[in-house]
Amino acid sequence: MSDAVVVIGAGIGGLSAAVNLAAGGQRVVVLEAAAGPGGKAGVEVVDGVEVDTGPSVLTLPDVFDRIFRRAGTSLTEQVGLRQPTPAFRYHYPDGVVLDVERTPEDTLASVKAALGADPARELAGFLDHARRIWDAGAPNFVYGPAPSMGSLLRMGVTRFSALRQIDGLRSMWSAITKQVRSSHLQWLLARYATYNGSDVTSAPATLSCIAWVELGLGGFGVEGGIHALVRALERVALGLGVELRYDTPVTGLRVERGAVRAIETASGAVPARAVVCNADVAQLAQDLLPPMHRRALSAPSTPSMSGYTAVYRARRPAVPRPAHAVLFPTDYLEEFTDIFRRDRAPRDPTVYLCAQEPCHGRPGWPDAEPLFVMANAPAEPATGPRPREEHEVLAETVRRRLLQADLLEEADPRVWSRTPTELAARFPGSRGAIYGAASNSTFAAFGRPPNRVGAVPGLYLASGSAHPGGGLPLCALSGLAAADACLEDLGPARRWA
Ligand SMILES: Cc1cc2nc3c(=O)[nH]c(=O)nc-3n(C[C@H](O)[C@H](O)[C@H](O)COP(=O)(O)OP(=O)(O)OC[C@H]3O[C@@H](n4cnc5c(N)ncnc54)[C@H](O)[C@@H]3O)c2cc1C
Repeated sequence: MSDAVVVIGAGIGGLSAAVNLAAGGQRVVVLEAAAGPGGKAGVEVVDGVEVDTGPSVLTLPDVFDRIFRRAGTSLTEQVGLRQPTPAFRYHYPDGVVLDVERTPEDTLASVKAALGADPARELAGFLDHARRIWDAGAPNFVYGPAPSMGSLLRMGVTRFSALRQIDGLRSMWSAITKQVRSSHLQWLLARYATYNGSDVTSAPATLSCIAWVELGLGGFGVEGGIHALVRALERVALGLGVELRYDTPVTGLRVERGAVRAIETASGAVPARAVVCNADVAQLAQDLLPPMHRRALSAPSTPSMSGYTAVYRARRPAVPRPAHAVLFPTDYLEEFTDIFRRDRAPRDPTVYLCAQEPCHGRPGWPDAEPLFVMANAPAEPATGPRPREEHEVLAETVRRRLLQADLLEEADPRVWSRTPTELAARFPGSRGAIYGAASNSTFAAFGRPPNRVGAVPGLYLASGSAHPGGGLPLCALSGLAAADACLEDLGPARRWA
C-alpha cells in the first residue's frame, strides 16, 4: 500500500483538508494531539451538558457545503442551520439597546426605530460599500490562492486601483467614521475588526466586508452546537476511509532527499507521501521542521487578539434571551489601544455573550442554561506568560459587567473558563492568538503563508495561521486550498463525487 498523506491536526482546516484529500482519491491519516477533533472549535462536558468553548457564529456556510459536496453529501444533509431572531442585541453605555436581525432589511428597520432614519440610511450605504468590497476582493483574496503583488496586478489596471477597489488604502476606522455619523453604529461596525482579531484603527478598510458577510449574507447557529459541524466533518472523513488517530502528538517532520518523507510521533515514525499541517505555522517553524528548513516559515510579528472565555450556568430569565448579546464599554476604542498599543488586558472590556440554547437549540441543564462569555485580550508576550493576576482582574470585570446588566445573577456559577495563557498552552506556537496574524496594515494579507510551502516540497498549510486566515469558513477554505495544491502536485486520480 502506498504511503498516506498525513494531516497534522483535526481542527477545522485539518478535517476539511482530510475530506478533500480522501475525496480526491488519497489515503489519508490524521494525527491529532488531543483526545478528539475540533481544535479551537472545541467542546467541554460540564455537569453532564455539552457546551461549545470556541466559535458561536457560523458565516459563509456555502464553504462547508462545497467541501461536503466533494464528498458526495451536502451541508444540509449533515447539519441543521439556525438563524435566531434577534440575532444580536447591542447594549451601549448610554442605555441604548439595538437589535440586529437576520436580514439587512429587518436590521435597518430596527436601526431606524432605535436610532432614527439618518443612521439607518447611513448603515444601508455602508453595507452597500462593504458588499462591493466583498464582491471585488473575495474571489481573489479569500476564495483564491494566497495573494501576492502579482495577483493584485491581475485584479486591476494598476496595483493602486485594485487596492482602492477593496478600500485597502485607509484604515477601517477611518472608512467607518467617514460614512457613518452615529457613534452607536460606528462601534457596531468597528467590532467586525475583532472577527479577524485586528485593530480597527490600523486594519485596512477592506475588513469592512466582514460587516456585509454577517449582516448581509447571514450569521448562523448550528443545530446541536458549532461542534456538530466538526462531528459532521469527522463523520464524512471516516466515511471516506480517513484514518483518525487521536492522542497522537506529532513531534517532528522528516525532510529527506529534498522533500517531506515522514512524520515523527512518540510511538514512531509515520511515512508520508505529503504532509498537510493544521497546527499553528509558528509551531511548525519553531519546533516541528528540521532546523535547516525552519527559515522557510516564520511566526507572525503581530499576533491577532486572544480572549478570556467562560461558561456560566445561568438561571433562565422569564423572557428568553437573544442568541448573542454585546455589552459595550464606556469608550470602545480604548479596548483596541489597551490590546495593541499598551499590550495589556482591557481595563474596560466589551463583553460578548452567547446564549447557547436559543443560538443552537441545544438544551442545557433542567434548571439552567449555558451562557458562553468572551472578552478580547492581547495574545501572550513572546517572552512568556502574562502575570496571572491580569486575567483574574479581566475575569472579575466581565462578571461584574454581566451582573450590572442583569444578564447574570449572583448565584449563577462559572462552570468553565480559559485564559489566553491556557489557550496558548493548548495551541503551541499560537501565543493564544485566535486568528493567526493580525491584519493591522494594508499588506498584512500578503504576509500570510501560502497553502503550499514552496521551499519544502510535499508540505502544505491548512489553518487559521495560513492563507486565507482565521475563522471557521476561512480555515475550511485553507484546508480546501492545501488539499487542492497537494492533489495537484501528487498527480491526477481525482474522483470528486
Ligand atoms: C473563543 C473563540 C471564539 C471564536 N469565535 C468564532 C466565531 O464565532 N466564528 C468563527 O468563524 N470563528 C471563531 N473562532 C475562530 C475559529 O474557531 C478558528 O479560527 C478555527 O476553529 C481554527 O481552526 P484551525 O483549522 O486553524 O485549527 P485549530 O483549531 O487551531 O486546530 C489545530 C489542531 O491541531 C492540533 N495540533 C496542534 N499541534 C499538533 C501536533 N504537534 N500534533 C498533532 N496535532 C496537533 C491541535 O490539537 C488542534 O486540534 C473562535 C475561536 C475561539 C478560540
